[in-house]
Amino acid sequence: MGVVGVGHLGQHHARIYTEILGAQLVGVMDENSERASAIGQHLGVPYYGDIDEFLDSARPDGISVVVPTVDHFEVARKALLRGVNVLIEKPVTTTVEEAEQLLTMAEEKDLVLQVGHIERFNSAIQYVSKISHKPMFLQSRRLGPFSSRISDVGVVLDLMIHDIDIVLSLVNSSIENISATGRKICSDYEDIASAQLSFENGSMAHILVSRVSERRLRQMEIMEPERYLSINYETQDVSIHRCVNQSGTGLVEVIEHPVFPKSEPLKLELQHFVSCVRDGKQPLVGISDGKRALEIAVEVLKQIHRNNSLSAHTKEAV
Ligand code: NAD
Repeated sequence: MGVVGVGHLGQHHARIYTEILGAQLVGVMDENSERASAIGQHLGVPYYGDIDEFLDSARPDGISVVVPTVDHFEVARKALLRGVNVLIEKPVTTTVEEAEQLLTMAEEKDLVLQVGHIERFNSAIQYVSKISHKPMFLQSRRLGPFSSRISDVGVVLDLMIHDIDIVLSLVNSSIENISATGRKICSDYEDIASAQLSFENGSMAHILVSRVSERRLRQMEIMEPERYLSINYETQDVSIHRCVNQSGTGLVEVIEHPVFPKSEPLKLELQHFVSCVRDGKQPLVGISDGKRALEIAVEVLKQIHRNNSLSAHTKEAV
């Protein structure tokens, strides 16, 4: 296995490949050669500053693409062309057309192309996806303080894409309508955004994301006909709330805290990728899922831009 882009997240991909039984990290590559050498030396593996040299010399069976989103397509394309399986970080690409091209290449060459929607490997989500059968309303909040690290995309492609993917994986229906708003606060892109998705089966989802909040919060509530589930992504805890009729006192709320095994989501995700590469299996989160989440995110962005230009226009008119 290999890692391209060993920055904030990629260093963990590289570390985890050295920990997975049956996998071997054959090298790391970063266009910042000091970074490549620091991580390569720390993990005791060859390091490269050039992608072609890395792919041709280290000859990995699979790579993680952990470069900024704008470069995902080009790095993944080079790897797929050489017959290398790819795990590409989320969001898969910046345009749906690029995702389509990668999908075609992976299909033609029969390669694994997994997308790093890591929350699918969150133990709380894995538990909830087994027990939630009739989600009627899903409410998700993913908030945190500003960081200048992700400067190539806004909060929709950076954060909301996680929630879009989770909502799509839990609601088994097509989207009927999307309405969204968002605003720039600190960066050149939207830093806060809110989207409402309604589905043909009547389910609805509201997703709020922000990178200009004082405190970090990663939470989802799922309303079902007779209960609601609350998920804390960070602690990987789930609570199940029900109202029951107790004789004498009337309706009371009963809260259950189910116990299930928890693990590092990134490790589970990379273990899954290694086993898909080894066994030639299709991944749990493939390029079609990545593309579908991206299509919704792009529609959310279109609405945000449309609404913002309308309100700017109205202001000018006033
Ligand atoms: P980062 O800026 O910390 O690291 C990116 C690294 O890639 C840097 O070391 C940079 O030198 C290198 N790089 C840039 N262009 C390159 C190229 N063309 N070829 C080789 N190396 C190149 O960024 P990050 O926070 O690690 O994010 C990287 C990707 O991971 C982004 O797509 C981001 O959306 C994704 N990400 C996903 C999650 C998640 O929860 N799944 C979390 C954080 C980041």
